[in-house]
This record gives sequence, structure tokens and C-alpha cells, in this order.
Amino acid sequence: MLFFPKKRPARKDPYADPIGRESREKGWCVDCHSSIKDEFFMVHDPVWAKARMENYGGFLCVGCLEKRIGRRLRRGDFTDCPMNKPDFTYLDGRPVPKSRRLRNRLGI
Ligand SMILES: [Zn+2]
Repeated sequence: MLFFPKKRPARKDPYADPIGRESREKGWCVDCHSSIKDEFFMVHDPVWAKARMENYGGFLCVGCLEKRIGRRLRRGDFTDCPMNKPDFTYLDGRPVPKSRRLRNRLGI
């Protein structure tokens, strides 16, 4: 006899939002479609919410996030995660590039 695991309660499908999905798959900013390869960062939830962004809603570049919240990002907007540190690297040890304006906002 086969037993099938009970279905987990439905969560919001992160792939349901086509704009966010496209942004994550192509690595571009939701608003301007520029590559965010040198603008990977994490901000605190209220900042993200203020920009009317959801979790898994895709990426924003520094400029478009600032436009949405109506001010420049400051150091305190960023979380403590390794991604926001100057020495953050890919798994193979290469440093993940940070744009000049991202370094400026991070204060590094
Ligand atoms: Zn942008």
C-alpha cells in the first residue's frame, strides 16, 4: 500500500507574479530592466514594503528603489546579511562586484 504525504497548506506561490519572476530569472531591475549584477543588496522589510515590493517580487536597482521611497538609501536601511558586506564572494571565491553608488550607500 502506498501512502502519499499530506499536502502542505498552500503558501503564496513565489512564481505566481510574472514581473517578479522575470526579474529574478533575468537578473534585472523590475522598473528599468538594467542588470543588477553589481547591485545585489538586502534592505530591511519596512524599506522594501515602502517601495511597494513583496518578497519574491523581484529586484530593484539602487536608483529605482530610491525613486520609489522618495529618498536616498542610508546605511541603516541595509540588513546585516553577508551580501551587504564588502568582502562578499561567489561560491568560487570571486568577489561579487558592487557598483559605486551601492558602495556609497553602504558606506564602504
Ligand atoms: Zn532600476
